[in-house]
Amino acid sequence: MIATYSCAKCGMSVHATCAKCDQPLVNDTLTIDDGSKVQISRCPVCEGKIKSPMCCGSDMSCSL
Ligand SMILES: [Zn+2]
Ligand SMILES: [Zn+2]
Repeated sequence: MIATYSCAKCGMSVHATCAKCDQPLVNDTLTIDDGSKVQISRCPVCEGKIKSPMCCGSDMSCSL
């Protein structure tokens, strides 16, 4: 399960990996204080999390 993000506008795609562990990140969502959900990528090894990459001014969507 490798998170591949693609931009709906320009078609650019990104494979998200953890630079520290050299592991593919898995897609996850985080619920923040106001109840809305944020799409994130999580490293299964170090449990590090990053926000989904952005392109063309909006979040890139994830397809597994
Ligand atoms: Zn784009
Ligand atoms: Zn990691």
